[in-house]
Amino acid sequence: MMINYEQFEKNAHSVRQSIARVCRSCGRDPSEVQLLAVTKSHPPEAIAFAARLGFAAIGENRVQEAAGKKSLVAANVRWELIGHLQSNKARLAVSLFDRIQSVDRIKLLNALDRFAGEEEKVLPVLLQVNTGEDPRKFGAATAGAASLLEAALHCPHIRVEGLMTIAPLDQDRSVALTAFERLRALRDELCGSFAVTLPELSMGMSGDMEEAIKAGSTCVRVGSALFGPR
Ligand SMILES: *Cc1c(COP(=O)(O)O)cnc(C)c1O
Repeated sequence: MMINYEQFEKNAHSVRQSIARVCRSCGRDPSEVQLLAVTKSHPPEAIAFAARLGFAAIGENRVQEAAGKKSLVAANVRWELIGHLQSNKARLAVSLFDRIQSVDRIKLLNALDRFAGEEEKVLPVLLQVNTGEDPRKFGAATAGAASLLEAALHCPHIRVEGLMTIAPLDQDRSVALTAFERLRALRDELCGSFAVTLPELSMGMSGDMEEAIKAGSTCVRVGSALFGPR
């Protein structure tokens, strides 16, 4: 069931208010936190709604689903892939998405670099790291992040903009906070050892946005709080 535009507008307003409130409580400027509208498993209208309300970007988690929707909506938004990507879909992903947030292994990185090269473009990516050490989540192990970044820095058609994580689902919200703080610490460490800047920290969803913003998120990926349950 898809909500109507008026409801979406209300939801978006209240999500933005929450972001502003959390930012105030920790002395951050709300403009530092991008709100990525996650439209996965919702009809193409969800993307049209987001574009109409001025969202700069939408997130999808499946390549095939995104391909179908992209042929149906002509919305002026950036498309970001936030879900697990199989190497055999890398070529299609490179042609569809403006940024891929879920790069978590060297083999995938090399495939993306090759296809981006064929399209003569530089593909912005985030490296997904499983800082919550959750066996049910994708993402490079924290200990493997440095070698993944090193490989990425050698890819001429890849530009690493930052890191992404998905926190473990846990009633105890300090579990998510710890995973987010680890991602930020890892980012700082990698910037120091590789002398690069990795400004983007994509972390936080409908249920753990507050912890993520407190830990330094620059991109919250929000689905159900905007579009209702899936
Ligand atoms: C679905 C999804 C989200 C959004 O989740 P909500 O709880 O609906 O806000 C964020 N990030 C990723 C990677 C997702 O797959």
